[in-house]
Amino acid sequence: MEVGRRTLIAGLGASGLTAGLLALGASPAAADDGDPAQNILSAAVAWCVTAAEREMLYRQAFNIARDRIDAVLRGEGQKRRGSKPLAIISDVDDTVLSSDTYWAMLLGSGKQAFDDVLWDDWVRANGPTPTPGAVEFTRYAESRGVEVFYVSQRDQGPDTQQYGVANLQHAGLAFADDAHATFQRESSNKEAAQQAIAEKYEVIAYLGDNLNDFRRRYYVTSVAQRKALASEDAERFGRDFILFPNNTDGHWMRAIFGTSEPADSPEYRARMLLAAQNLVP
Ligand SMILES: [Mg+2]
Repeated sequence: MEVGRRTLIAGLGASGLTAGLLALGASPAAADDGDPAQNILSAAVAWCVTAAEREMLYRQAFNIARDRIDAVLRGEGQKRRGSKPLAIISDVDDTVLSSDTYWAMLLGSGKQAFDDVLWDDWVRANGPTPTPGAVEFTRYAESRGVEVFYVSQRDQGPDTQQYGVANLQHAGLAFADDAHATFQRESSNKEAAQQAIAEKYEVIAYLGDNLNDFRRRYYVTSVAQRKALASEDAERFGRDFILFPNNTDGHWMRAIFGTSEPADSPEYRARMLLAAQNLVP
């Protein structure tokens, strides 16, 4: 029953999400931690599922990526370094696949923090939908002879790769096959996979919602360090580093809590309040 329900919720578009959750009895009765109106995730998720601005940030980022392809093919800007074919390396979650229905489902289940079990079920049920512009962009790249490679870190057990490729195919993305997709389980360090691609292709842009999607050197533990390191590369953003929005999770959370997926607790909430006041170094 649970998987079916999650599949149903995941299949709802943003406009049908609220009605769907209410119809499924997911809110308010399902909240297991007090008044659901007090859920500290609600503001972030509300923005995810309602803001036209979020959708246009995705469109904007894919427009930049498309312009980059066109410029390189015209011989402008980045000069081709040799005869290698061109490629773009993209993250998956919250870059080409949206997690907004997962977060809405999480809220509907009364959770206040990332939940691995719900996430894994949602992935296995092909819950992810393409982000705005992702399908068009990957197909455009294909039409111009630029291959898109997906490098992601997920762990749904031995079939992680199979689930991931199925998600890409279900979303209708180009290059949704094992030759172009790497779902690595053990580490969030993507550099080895990225370098293996770069040995055979000239990589003209990296797409991601997390600094770690661009360079591992950003994988540091403090808020201030992350900002300082990213600032050193500020000229690359919007050029070969193309950044997508994610206000619900990622290594920005790790910098606050020491872990990317902190469990809900009084300490978690207290530290979130500190972070909101910019009092976490
Ligand atoms: Mg991501």
